Amino acid sequence: MPAKKVTRMFNQELTNRFVKLDELFTLLENLLQENQVLTNKLHQLQDREERFRQIAENVREVFFMISAETDEILYISPAYEEVWGRTCQSLYEDPQSWLSAIHPEDSFRAIATLETQFRTGDEFEEEYRIVRPDASIRWVSVKAFPIRDMEEKVHRFVGIAEDITKRKQAEQALRESEEQFRLTFELAPIGMAITTLNGKFQRVNQALCDALDYSQEELLRLSFSDISYSEDIEEHQSLEKKLTVGQESAFQIEKRHIAKSGRIVDTLLKVVIVRNAQGKPLHFNNQIVDITERKQMERQLLHDALHDSLTGLPNRALFTDRLEHEIIRAKNQSNYLFAVLFLDLDRFKIVNDSVGHLIGDKLLIQIARRLETCINPTDTVARLGGDEFTILLENIPDVNVATTIAEKIYQALKHPFNIEGYEIFTTASIGIALSSQGYEQPEAILRDADLTMYTAKEQGKARYEVFDRSMHIRAIKRLELETDLRKAIEREEFLVYYQPIVSLIKGTLVGFEALARWQHPTRKFVSPTEFIPVTEETGLIVPLGKWLLKEACKQLHSWQIQYPEYSSLKISVNLSGKQLKETFLLNTIDEVLEETGLEGQFLKLEITESLLMKNLELVNNTLLSLRKRKIQLSIDDFGTGYSSLSYLHRFPINTLKIDRSFVQEMQSERDNSIVKTIVTLAHMLNMDVIAEGIETPYQMNQLKCLKCEHGQGYFFAKPLSKEEAEKLIASSPTWE
Ligand code: C2E
Ligand code: MG
Ligand code: MG
Repeated sequence: MPAKKVTRMFNQELTNRFVKLDELFTLLENLLQENQVLTNKLHQLQDREERFRQIAENVREVFFMISAETDEILYISPAYEEVWGRTCQSLYEDPQSWLSAIHPEDSFRAIATLETQFRTGDEFEEEYRIVRPDASIRWVSVKAFPIRDMEEKVHRFVGIAEDITKRKQAEQALRESEEQFRLTFELAPIGMAITTLNGKFQRVNQALCDALDYSQEELLRLSFSDISYSEDIEEHQSLEKKLTVGQESAFQIEKRHIAKSGRIVDTLLKVVIVRNAQGKPLHFNNQIVDITERKQMERQLLHDALHDSLTGLPNRALFTDRLEHEIIRAKNQSNYLFAVLFLDLDRFKIVNDSVGHLIGDKLLIQIARRLETCINPTDTVARLGGDEFTILLENIPDVNVATTIAEKIYQALKHPFNIEGYEIFTTASIGIALSSQGYEQPEAILRDADLTMYTAKEQGKARYEVFDRSMHIRAIKRLELETDLRKAIEREEFLVYYQPIVSLIKGTLVGFEALARWQHPTRKFVSPTEFIPVTEETGLIVPLGKWLLKEACKQLHSWQIQYPEYSSLKISVNLSGKQLKETFLLNTIDEVLEETGLEGQFLKLEITESLLMKNLELVNNTLLSLRKRKIQLSIDDFGTGYSSLSYLHRFPINTLKIDRSFVQEMQSERDNSIVKTIVTLAHMLNMDVIAEGIETPYQMNQLKCLKCEHGQGYFFAKPLSKEEAEKLIASSPTWE
């Protein structure tokens, strides 16, 4: 082979090789460059992974990575150990332990979701409980996202699991408290409602529905104003307004509502306004307590407090209240006139004592009904107590209206009352007072009407009187008398006068009646008929009576000794009601007899007939004790007290003292009949008789003929001073 050719081939070969070498270099260069890129990428990846780890390993959330092909755990962050209570290592070794830790109640749901996700490669999110090895339970929220390769195939899942136990507990607590609230609301024994700011019901509970007879659905269609008592709406709404504008935050009122049936329901309504965080009013919370029963009781109590339980009429409190209004009206209208009638039954006590309290009560009820028929519906009849009634006549033109009503009352009471077989007659005394006197106080007009009623009684009962100023003056005088009487006891202004009692048969002196006299410093003698009733009312009669008894007994005893022919003289002493009821009466009498040395048989006590009848039981025991001491008993003013004759024989009485009104009527034989009857009666009951008020020889002779044992009166002698009486005894008087 030619050298040239060889050379050319060699050159060619060399060139080829160079080219290859060059290519190799380029390739190498490329490889090196690629390698550098890869290395960089690797470093980047390593950096990223490092950063991921740093993050993943330092947060509370658990990060994980799972192979989609093998279910293998590729990565789990250390927080897993804290949440699951298991080591990460144990999970790498046994990936199934992930599933077996799920709470049995949640595992079905959680595993189904997981499987679906693995199958479909979808994202998923699930909350479930895990059971830790120490059996404690944690709630976790697990989220996982698929990672896809170049071919869009899911090859792994990355995810995050978060411990949400605290949140779950808070949610649970919230649910429980909401439930609690719901139950409290639903089952509360009192009515509850949530209402809009316009009063529309948004939520109501069963108690409210029950109280108002509505169903929940019905109530929820209504507003407060639909079920309110019309008069109470305004107050409720205006208070709500105050809440909305922020003037108040709550209020409480008593309010009436109307139930579906139309029944009025009294309620106690408490309202609170609810606002949002910004203070904007949202709605009202209402508590509605049914207080119907309490209100009814209150109304009943109020009614009872203002009405008389026996007759159902208004009582003093209500009457006084109405009077107050009338007084104000009269003050504001110059010609306005009203009248008060004060009515007191005559001798009601006797009815009570003779036929009993039950019938007495029924009589009062029937009287109340009859009185009601005598007045206009606008007028008021009240019972003040006992047998006292008052009538208020409003807006009358003149006094004639009041007197006409008084007449009407007489007519109404005229017919007898039939009560349980008893026919009872009754009359009343009425005092009328008119507002024209310019009263300021209800008590003042009542006082004057009462005073006038007393005047009517004094004038002989069964009549009416109209108040005039002179009555007031009399009343003031009486008050002065009372004051003077109190001083009189201290100043020893009292004296005892002695009126002889004469044997009509023998015409000789047999005793005296001791009569009180008051030597008033400016008025000379004041009659006992004037001052004795006042001392009775004030209780002054007790010390006065004791003093008088002692004085009289002492005096008589000294006369008995001084005048031996008069050693059996008796002294009659009057006893008042107060004294008779006084618990110390017997002690007082024993003490007086002991101190004065007088024997009981020479003392005669006079008790008026009406007094005896008023206190039947009480008196009888006292009288029996007196009888044991041989003290004599006499019924004074006999014939005026309407005593039931059947009672008389029950009492240990020695003497009937015929009231002087009967003696004074003895002008002719025709007028003797009452006295004759009394004498006969007394003798039948083994009593003797004293006739009081004998003023003429005719009367004395008539009484003698009727076999009346004793007499007393101006015909024999007036009541005498101690000295005069003594002179009389000394003269050994006789009367023919
Ligand atoms: P009395 O017990 O019925 O007393 C009789 C009254 O009749 C006495 O009035 C006497 O003065 C009066 N009198 C006597 N004879 C006649 C007469 O012929 N004609 C007239 N017109 N009157 C005559 P006096 O002393 O004014 O007493 C009135 C009443 O006062 C007594 O009525 C008695 O109820 C009461 N009284 C008097 N003193 C006492 C007393 O010491 N204690 C009590 N509790 N009451 C007394
Ligand atoms: Mg007397
Ligand atoms: Mg008398």
